Parts: sequence; structure tokens; C-alpha cells
Amino acid sequence: MLSDDELARYARHLVLREVGGPGQAKIRQARVLMVGAGGLGSPAALYLAAAGIGTLGLVDDDAVSLSNLQRQILFRTADIGRPKVEAGAQALKALNPGVQIQAHKTRLGPANVMALIADYDIVADGSDNFATRFLLNDACFFAKKPLVSAAVTEFEGQLATYKGHEPSCPCYRCLFPEPPPPGTVPNCSETGVLGAAAGVMGALQGLEVLKEAAGLGTGLSGKILTYKALTAEFRTARLPKDPGCALCGTNPTLRDLSGHP
Ligand SMILES: [Zn+2]
Repeated sequence: MLSDDELARYARHLVLREVGGPGQAKIRQARVLMVGAGGLGSPAALYLAAAGIGTLGLVDDDAVSLSNLQRQILFRTADIGRPKVEAGAQALKALNPGVQIQAHKTRLGPANVMALIADYDIVADGSDNFATRFLLNDACFFAKKPLVSAAVTEFEGQLATYKGHEPSCPCYRCLFPEPPPPGTVPNCSETGVLGAAAGVMGALQGLEVLKEAAGLGTGLSGKILTYKALTAEFRTARLPKDPGCALCGTNPTLRDLSGHP
């Protein structure tokens, strides 16, 4: 049962026939882990907290810097120097005290990833490096958790939901079998990123997480959505499962996380 306060706070959800009380209750039960409190994680976490996600975990080992504020809307100028998960948890709590915020001030790695994701139903990847993307993909596959993965660079973004543990659903390795060699793909600090483009992708990521949590509509499993900000174009392409995928294919060769440095 929703309290009077919840009935008022989520009134615009509750009048949606597809959400209603049952959908809002599912949102309240959901436990979501947001990896990366950056340009993607900021809008995603803000919308998820505003929507009343029951438990929202934030993983990040970084502190807020001045150059973050152009896109990381979870933070204020006064937060510079504070751990991102601490400043982020405070902002999210202020937005919605009903949400349990779990701050994980740590760098996600092979040694802690399984324990971190174990407590959550849905994982959202808003990280900025391929090592974390591949690690999360493999860990979510082994733990049988849906992974809503967003990426943004310069003026373009990508979004997909990976459920490689399900028979007909692809994983990230069905799209990219191996990480690119280190140093071959420049990161966001080298190439730049338009802040609002990260905002679009992070908001879409939060939306897809909500859809997974509430069982709403058709998700982005088996599809990949791309956004080109400069031409204002969205495209959704089919992303089939690769039977030869080393992780989720018919003869997998990746059996654990031991290949991750
Ligand atoms: Zn796969």
C-alpha cells in the first residue's frame, strides 16, 4: 500500500494506466545499481530517485571536480572535492527521502563486482571505460541480472539492455567480442562531450531501467539505440544474439571473470 505522501508524490505515475498502483509498487520494490556517478549516472540517478526506486546504489571512487559540472548535474559548485557518491547520495536523499541510497565509494573491479551486484535486481552502466563495460557485462551474465548500458562520446550516444543469460537475448560481447587494445580509443577527457548529450542518454538510461523495474512496454533487449545530437537523429537497430559469442553463445569459452585484469 502506498502512503498518502506517496500517493501525492507519484500522482502523475499513478494516473498512467500502464503504471498505476501496481507499477509504482514494483518501482518501490526495485533495487538498482548505478555504476558511475558521472554525466550518464547523474540524470539517470536523479530520475530513478524522483520516480521512487526503492533502493538505489551508486558506485564511484572519484571526487567532484570543476570540469565535471558542465554535465554532471547531480553536483553543485560547493561539492567540488567531495566524494561523488557522498555528494550524490545527499542530493538524491534531498530529492526523495523515501529512496534508500547506498553509496559505494569504490572502484568496481573483478574482485568486488559480484558482491556489489548481488544485492541488486538491475544494473545500469554509466562508466567511462571499456574495462568496466566488459567486466559488468560478464558479471551480470554470470549473476543473471539485466544490464542497462549507456555510452556517450562527443555528440553521440548508445543505449542497450543486455540479458545474455536469457536464450534469445544478446550480451555486450555479441556486439563487441573483445575490449579494444588499451590506448586505442580516446576517453571523454581527451575527446570532449556535449553535456546535454550525456543528459539525453542518461535520462533514456533511467527510463529503460524504470521500464525494466515496472515491466513497462518493450525494453531495449535485442536492440541498440543510437543518438546523434548534431543531426538530432535517433535510430534503433536490431542486435541479435551471436551464437558464436564467447560468453553467451552455444559453446562459451568464458566461464568466469578470470580473464579480467
Ligand atoms: Zn553474447
